[in-house]
Amino acid sequence: MDRGRGRRGGTALLLQKATNQLTRRTNERLVLRTIYERSPLSRADVSRLTGLTRTTVSGVVDDLIELGLTEEAGFGPSTGGKAPIMLRVPTDARHTVGVHVDDERISGAVVNLHGEIRQRASAPLRSRDGETAIAGLEALVDRLVGAAERPLLGIGVGAPGLIDTASGVVRWAVNLDWRELPLGERLARRTGLPIRVVNDSQAAAMAEWTFGHHEGASAMIVLKVGWGIGAGIILGGRLYQGDDSGAGEVGHIRVRDDGPSCRCGNRGCLETVAGVRGLLARATDLLASGVRSSLGEGELTLEAVAGAYREEDGLAAQVVMETAMALGRTLGTITGTLDIRDIVVIGPMSALGEGWLAAVRREARRSALPLLAERSTIRFGRLGPDVVELGAAALLMTSELGLVPAA
Ligand SMILES: [Zn+2]
Repeated sequence: MDRGRGRRGGTALLLQKATNQLTRRTNERLVLRTIYERSPLSRADVSRLTGLTRTTVSGVVDDLIELGLTEEAGFGPSTGGKAPIMLRVPTDARHTVGVHVDDERISGAVVNLHGEIRQRASAPLRSRDGETAIAGLEALVDRLVGAAERPLLGIGVGAPGLIDTASGVVRWAVNLDWRELPLGERLARRTGLPIRVVNDSQAAAMAEWTFGHHEGASAMIVLKVGWGIGAGIILGGRLYQGDDSGAGEVGHIRVRDDGPSCRCGNRGCLETVAGVRGLLARATDLLASGVRSSLGEGELTLEAVAGAYREEDGLAAQVVMETAMALGRTLGTITGTLDIRDIVVIGPMSALGEGWLAAVRREARRSALPLLAERSTIRFGRLGPDVVELGAAALLMTSELGLVPAA
């Protein structure tokens, strides 16, 4: 009996210890996030904003200062008494490696806590074969980890396709011929660092949400339009990944019954019609059928179509508008389903410019309940070509420091 009581007593003690540790960690994250989002703040401000006592805040701030995650930065305005010491999170307190596996290249960046890029590296994706591609990715990661001048939170990888973020397995990347690739495990074993692997459009959504200065919204859709098409969805201030991490895989929604066959095995998928491949295939067909166009001379590329479109070439205008219609309808469907106002369009097809985007907008408004559709804004992203690297890095800021709310 005594032994039993002793065991129970021991368990209770351990449980209490675990609870204390958890509370400490929760408080630490709450205080750090508050300072990160609202700085400069005094200890009293932090106490007021978090609801924690002054004593608790002081203790947590001391710990954060020791970890290098918070610093004192001058005095704030006095409200009668002594001027308070202000706190902030040093921009370069931690760095993160963000990697973007694209259809043709792997790019990576060392990113600080404010989304500023400190180092860059990239390499061509020499083979779509999983093993060779991983070797290239590992070499790039080694270079970036070696180049980092601050403690690293970890490595975030954004890649196309269906990715199980929890296990770090790329389940199926249609355009890369990758299936069941245990990317996260491989990188973790090699580097000993925390790894997050995420769909590229979902990473882009994290980046626009974290670093893109959205105003007062609680939700956002980021639609990435290139060779493939995918969306990242922020719901209630968090990345929404769905039951199988596949939320936003809109590129394979059927938009044309008699459409071209897709690498996924179906026909008429959105990306076969409205992605770069669809655009170029349609232009090729029209040229072959004898439609006259300046695109008949020279190589047919997205840049060439964008240039001809700007110069009001009839064929270019037709194919560009067809992609805009298909994209607009899909966005209308999403708006009608989720009622999200803030829609951001990114990716190589943005090269088609404002005229194309205006057509996307028009079609989206015709494809959903007018009252909902009228209130949505469809705009280009603000972060430029490093958006996936930034978002992959933001995921580590969430998982390791709790700086950004996420999935
Ligand atoms: Zn498909």
